[in-house]
Amino acid sequence: MQVPGGSAMRRWIIGTAGVLAMIAVVAVYWLFYDNRLPTSGSFPIDLAAIRAEAARMPGGGPVRIETETLSHVRVPKIAMVAGSDWSKIDVARMSHRLVFPDRSIVIDTAFDQAASRASNDDSYDPAAWRRLVRAMDEAGAIVITHEHGDHLGGLLASPHLRAILPKALLNPEQFAISPYIKPLRWPPGVRAGYKPFRYHGVRAIAPGVVLIRAPGHTPGSQMIYVRRADGREFLFTGDAASMADNVRLQRIRSRLVTDFFTHENRRAVILQTIALHRLTAEHPQLVLVPGHDGAAIAALQHAGLLVQSFH
Ligand SMILES: [Zn+2]
Repeated sequence: MQVPGGSAMRRWIIGTAGVLAMIAVVAVYWLFYDNRLPTSGSFPIDLAAIRAEAARMPGGGPVRIETETLSHVRVPKIAMVAGSDWSKIDVARMSHRLVFPDRSIVIDTAFDQAASRASNDDSYDPAAWRRLVRAMDEAGAIVITHEHGDHLGGLLASPHLRAILPKALLNPEQFAISPYIKPLRWPPGVRAGYKPFRYHGVRAIAPGVVLIRAPGHTPGSQMIYVRRADGREFLFTGDAASMADNVRLQRIRSRLVTDFFTHENRRAVILQTIALHRLTAEHPQLVLVPGHDGAAIAALQHAGLLVQSFH
């Protein structure tokens, strides 16, 4: 039996469901697939200027680059590479060490086991952490690509932070107490007297090692160019490119991550991604070292370009 107005009610329900479905589709597109590229602007990466800066300091570059992987977590690829797919990929937290004949430099410090647990990582390597603590103690300098917990956290969690902080070259934004370092905290008192490392553009810190200012993922973000003693060139992108596919496909993290978790400057990061894509097309011999790409790092280790673990 037909209730009076029943067909109008049915039309209303169908119409409303249609609108809701449309909103859901737009939301999913916006959160996971949107990767519109800016129509103007560029991020300058002047490799000639970087090479000149790398050569400004006398001496050879590092003879070897070692990588320590502290933890792994599997996440849907689409979170890290917008518009890709929902398969799970290995996101690794790493530290790298540039080994010179007479010194070493640590790039990024991952984080300790407590911070890894708080991030819901799938696995953590306590032996790797012990090697990282010793590497930070022995290093001539410590640099980080940016002020996020899984890059700065290892430094802050070092049992010898007070002793090693003076050789950490943190730029003012990396050293600042900002929302970006949350949930990290500086232990009370250790910041007193520290002078941040200020530079603009590009700045060599050792023979063959150049910092490149690249705010976007965070205000203190930088990339690190390394020219090994044998001439092989590397670019540590930090989280300007967490995964190799960010550069290969010119796709950055999904908006769910960039707008609700990391609060990054999407436009700046996309422009950096475009610049890195162009740079690697023009200089295919340049080795890109992405910030968290477990599979890409394993491939670089397999190819002998990075040495697995600190020795
Ligand atoms: Zn980050």
